[in-house]
Amino acid sequence: MKTVDNYNFKGKKALVRVDFNVPLDAQYNITDDTRIRAAIPTLNKIIADGGSVILMSHLGRPKDGPDEKYSLKHIVNHISKLLNRPVLFAADCIGADAKSIAKELKAGEVLLLENLRFYKQETAGTESFAHELASLGDVYVNDAFGTAHRAHASTTIIAKFFPNDKVFGYVMANELASINKVLNKSQKPFTAIMGGAKVSGKILIIDNLLDKIDNLIIGGGMAYTFIKAQGGKVGSSLVEEDKLDIALKILKDAKAKGVNIYIPVDTIAASAFSNDAVKQTVDIKKIPDGFMGLDIGPESEKIFAEVIMKSKTILWNGPMGVFEMSNFENGTRSISDDIAAATKLGAYSLIGGGDSVAAINKYNLADDVSYVSTGGGALLEYIESGNLPGVKAIEE
Ligand code: AMP
Repeated sequence: MKTVDNYNFKGKKALVRVDFNVPLDAQYNITDDTRIRAAIPTLNKIIADGGSVILMSHLGRPKDGPDEKYSLKHIVNHISKLLNRPVLFAADCIGADAKSIAKELKAGEVLLLENLRFYKQETAGTESFAHELASLGDVYVNDAFGTAHRAHASTTIIAKFFPNDKVFGYVMANELASINKVLNKSQKPFTAIMGGAKVSGKILIIDNLLDKIDNLIIGGGMAYTFIKAQGGKVGSSLVEEDKLDIALKILKDAKAKGVNIYIPVDTIAASAFSNDAVKQTVDIKKIPDGFMGLDIGPESEKIFAEVIMKSKTILWNGPMGVFEMSNFENGTRSISDDIAAATKLGAYSLIGGGDSVAAINKYNLADDVSYVSTGGGALLEYIESGNLPGVKAIEE
């Protein structure tokens, strides 16, 4: 894997695709700067070599051209603070101004380009737009794992203009190393824990994982589709009626491949989708009418804990219940604790996909697991397909 460590940036202008798509409040204050902080080591390496940096990013999903709300000018000062040096800004990511500022950049200087998605050509992956961006720099660095599953102009297409000068940044390299460790070099037993709302988004992932894992733990809303498929009574729990057959097929395939499947045996059933609902702990196959399962029950927590504690590799995607509500967060919290404890015993744990990352952060356990992925969709797509357009473009 060619990373910034294999490249000397002295005298070069590095065009760096970062993921600075950070949340902003109504006054344009950054409410979580994790993504910016993550890219700082890559930028510092380029600067330490004697190179200059041209930052490319998107912010939000602007619909139709430039929009104040999604301007990257709001984050210039913060980047400058983190890098401890001034950051220049180009109010258009392509065109004469961007070109002349880029041309004048000296070693150690940093330029941030305006939101790439003010141009539809970015998401369309238009080659001429990618070429214009490419003309600003001498070397292309991709450090935006979160958008590596998109064949956009700045994440994929642009790489062809740098056949010998394209490398991964540290964020990308770390993400890829972590996924590779789990998918291709896992120590056994390998346990995948899948939760979240629906089976539908996870079918391909489960399919792919069945050849690699020893144990599959299923929780969250998707568990009820499996329970119903096997003839259980699930009350008004979340069920995907059109996925009952697929659930049965997954169970059958798992058996054929020697994968142990663990589905909850009990559930916290609620009278409504509300933290204040009446709740009762029941057998997950006998949920009363008018009740819906919103969390796994204590018996399931115990069974899952035993499996997790014996694992040497753990991949977790998706909460065990509606962990955003305090009365239905115990299952997700206990899984988080188990993964942290197993990691302490020597297991390698990768947490990925939006809501499990939110959960591990909520319980302050991000430092107690091996790796927390920054790219939800990208990670899942990597597991599904074994590669990503943004990764292939650098490796080709
Ligand atoms: P996903 O994006 O598919 O990973 O789903 C995450 C969402 O699933 C979270 O917002 C959870 O609140 C929700 N969820 C988890 N368990 C349940 C459940 N039993 N019923 C309904 N929603 C759930």
